[in-house]
Amino acid sequence: MLETTIAGSLPKPPWLAKPGMLWAPWLLPPELLAEGQRDAVLLALRDQEEAGIDVVTDGEQSRQHFVHGFLEKIEGIDRSARVTIGIRGDRYQAEVPVVRGPVRRRGPIHGEEVRFARAHTTRRLKFTVPGPMTIVDTLADEHYRSRERLAMEFARIINEEARELAALGLDVLQLDEPAFNVDAYLGDVKAWGIAALERATEGLGIRTAVHICYGYGIKANIEWKQSLGSEWRQYEQTFPLLARSRIDQVSLECASSRVPLSLLRLLEGKDVLVGAIDVATEAVETPEEVAGTIRKALSFVPPERLYPCTNCGMVPLPRDVARGKLRALALGAALVRAELGA
Ligand code: ZN
Repeated sequence: MLETTIAGSLPKPPWLAKPGMLWAPWLLPPELLAEGQRDAVLLALRDQEEAGIDVVTDGEQSRQHFVHGFLEKIEGIDRSARVTIGIRGDRYQAEVPVVRGPVRRRGPIHGEEVRFARAHTTRRLKFTVPGPMTIVDTLADEHYRSRERLAMEFARIINEEARELAALGLDVLQLDEPAFNVDAYLGDVKAWGIAALERATEGLGIRTAVHICYGYGIKANIEWKQSLGSEWRQYEQTFPLLARSRIDQVSLECASSRVPLSLLRLLEGKDVLVGAIDVATEAVETPEEVAGTIRKALSFVPPERLYPCTNCGMVPLPRDVARGKLRALALGAALVRAELGA
């Protein structure tokens, strides 16, 4: 019980991509990039194993951005015509590609990455892909002109991809849906967001997870969080819907957040990946601080369903900070496990 995992990403080595930033440019020439990415995956796996993380990821070392890495292999999207739009309910402006025609998967997207990671760790392996609503929110659509229709098309594409990934020996497939936490979209989450998640994860035969967070520790997010008041209750709308869905696990933000932990009760019957590491600060938590967050969550989640995790991806953090946070996460979980006599 209290098996540890991470939301997904880890910082990249400084020879692979510019450190300290999201969407960092690759530093290797095209002919060396794939090999460099594979080497970085080995280091990311090693860091997690040494720290004592139970369910590991490839650290998302082979993609520049969690949404755009997926879109690179999708037909119907014009990636040369980037337009600037407000995304996540206008929280920030982003340059996004344009949907010009029917969307279709050109071929396997992340298969090689999963195959490689699977061959190099004996731990359970999780892989993350963007969720349909978050993909739609990161595109300018000039073809379908319906967020719901486009999301369902992406749900079908994700499912094609996910079935292949599951067959490669993956243990958990996680869909990242930060868009689920945007007030302006809560109606859409109910109307079609959950249905799109279920379509995307249909028939996989492995554990499925959804990650819903308040974002990386960037300026726009920190300002947004300050506007959300003393209690963040966005999860209150989505958790009951997820509790009734087929999704097995929900990854959420708890460390240094204003989410009332009693909301975790709404996820009864699901595995809960409790964010016990704050990714918005370079201060490394002590194991005791991590244990404190886990203990509070245990009032609302039974220990066999609680997985200590990070709040979000750690990609923009310095590597030594991320390593320290991985260790604190594993040690904090071990403290509580000992108290429970497990
Ligand atoms: Zn996140």
